[in-house]
Amino acid sequence: MNAPVPKPWIMDIAPYVPGRAQTDDGRKAIKLSSNENPLGTSPAAREAFASASGSLERYPDASAVELREALAAKHGLDPARIIYGNGSDEILHLVAGAFAGPGDEVIYVNYGFAVYPIAIRRVGAVPVIAPDKDYATDVDAILASVTPRTRMVYVANPNNPTGTYASREEIARLHAGLRSDILLVLDHAYAEYIDGEIDDGGMELATSAPNVLVTRTFSKLYGLAAERIGWGYASAEIIEAMHRIRLPFSITIAGTAAAVAALNDAEFIEHTRAHNAQWRRWFADEIAKLGNAGLRAVPSQANFVLVLFEGTLTAEAAYKGLMDEGYIVRWLPGQGLAHGLRITIGTEDETKAVVAILQRLIADAR
Ligand code: PMP
Repeated sequence: MNAPVPKPWIMDIAPYVPGRAQTDDGRKAIKLSSNENPLGTSPAAREAFASASGSLERYPDASAVELREALAAKHGLDPARIIYGNGSDEILHLVAGAFAGPGDEVIYVNYGFAVYPIAIRRVGAVPVIAPDKDYATDVDAILASVTPRTRMVYVANPNNPTGTYASREEIARLHAGLRSDILLVLDHAYAEYIDGEIDDGGMELATSAPNVLVTRTFSKLYGLAAERIGWGYASAEIIEAMHRIRLPFSITIAGTAAAVAALNDAEFIEHTRAHNAQWRRWFADEIAKLGNAGLRAVPSQANFVLVLFEGTLTAEAAYKGLMDEGYIVRWLPGQGLAHGLRITIGTEDETKAVVAILQRLIADAR
């Protein structure tokens, strides 16, 4: 008897590997592997979440009016042009579903976010990887990768797993260099962590250009990863196409209430930003001091740092050494980063502990 056969392009997908929360021997660990907020979430969001969990028998508002209006008010946007989904992951999938198909090409940058190749292959399109420039997004390489079959480009800014940031000028140059029928997806999952102004010009492009989608999330700065709320902004036409294939009820009532409350908790937002900026700088400085042992921190504008191991202590040994001490970071050999660890900026104690463990592992490796 014949069994159902998955589409060949589905069998080409390497499934997403989430950050681990437990050590190899099953101990619960300090998780610095998924870029969550180490300070928790906004107290106002927690309260709103608890009081909104009343009516379990009713579907949520499928058009997410409350969330869209809160986002529009905060960011000065048109609520009709906001799409929302089960994390920004859902939006990244929706856009590929609406704008790419078999035979089309979709470009992303080497060391790009692991969901992009999945979203691209899922619809039968072909992922095209543009080379990086010392781990950073290389606009010229992206433009050189465009062919008549290119339909979309995904760029995370800041990028995950490298943490690198492309400036307003570079993003403008990228957009100007793309044909207008190529959709530029700017993934702003970490935009709130940029030093100074939260601005690479992406939202202005999404507002004025017909071919730019910006995606954002409540999973990082807002500390709501468990509730899976993401959103996007683009032209009315792009949003309308994505709505056609959206799941009707992919965000929950309690999650929406938490997100709206978190959005307006300026104190928690500032506290998180300041904490991250302080400890990211400290962490990168400490890694720089370990340069003679072959360690190097890729310059980061996100809430994590990619540390490269080019000396006696390997990334794999450091990964295992940190795990032995109960700290799980992200080792990504499957993404061509067998020589690097992506380490989320944790609390002060966690960040200091990671550095102390690395110092000891270096001394032991000598
Ligand atoms: N984009 C990037 C670059 C990310 O790192 C992540 C989280 N890993 C996401 C999007 C998706 O986040 P979420 O689905 O939780 O919004």
